[in-house]
Amino acid sequence: MSKFLFEFEMLEACPVCESRVMVPNGRISWLENDFWYVVCPGCGLKYMNPRPTTQSYRDFYRDYFWQQKIRNAGFREAGQTWQGKPQEWHNEEPWKPEDGRKIFMDKFRKVRVDAISGVLQKCINLGKDSLILEVGCGFPATLEALRDKYDAQVYAIEPSEDARQIIGEKNIELLGSYAEELRDLAAGDLRFDAIIFSHVLENATDPLQVIRWANSCLSANGVIYIQTPNLLVFDQMNPYHPFIFSRNSLRVLIEKAGLVYEPVSQPIDKMLTVICSKKRQSNWRINPDGK
Ligand SMILES: [Zn+2]
Repeated sequence: MSKFLFEFEMLEACPVCESRVMVPNGRISWLENDFWYVVCPGCGLKYMNPRPTTQSYRDFYRDYFWQQKIRNAGFREAGQTWQGKPQEWHNEEPWKPEDGRKIFMDKFRKVRVDAISGVLQKCINLGKDSLILEVGCGFPATLEALRDKYDAQVYAIEPSEDARQIIGEKNIELLGSYAEELRDLAAGDLRFDAIIFSHVLENATDPLQVIRWANSCLSANGVIYIQTPNLLVFDQMNPYHPFIFSRNSLRVLIEKAGLVYEPVSQPIDKMLTVICSKKRQSNWRINPDGK
């Protein structure tokens, strides 16, 4: 892969709880860039600091991220996952791009579609009148399934030129490239019954602001579905993740964005999965034992 030189900036406070205390906590290197992390003792957020600028990440996600992943050439480092096992789609061979796209579509169908639609069915009326937006959908297996199986009206925000081409071929409406464009959507008329952030919030350079804008784009009974790696058991330090959330730091972020936090995953699960809403619905049975 050709070099990609990120531009970096230093954060002077935790972007979730604003604590200025930072404890150095890990480092990795990739493509001649250093990525160093700190942990916030105030809320439990782990974050890259210094961190690539928003513009730098925009260029990276537009031109490099999926273009490399579908060739099996992205960043990978073993040993950051508790009880981690090799996954069926992992190998060391270079992939042809068309094979790589298929591998990721198949993977998303297998690990995301039922998980996401199962949760959404418990908290919204998932059907032909429901409007669903996925932010950073990549290859759009989830949106395609929600449309084809439930007749939902589906929309995408996605930066990768490679993934955008597939989204177009699937006739899924693209509303933008970057999560920050939720701000413009909030000023318009579209209101969504569900907004999905599946393995996306850890990539956003200002996740609190992004969720605030997403809140403004929700219908009155709409929900935000978030799935993101769990710091305590899936400490994936990689160049794509400026943030690694714990249950507490994700809850603090969601509540600061003016939303109610409803855990879907258990504390030991490798992924944190939560539903956020403007107000808790008494008829939900998402995770009766969840704390
Ligand atoms: Zn904090």
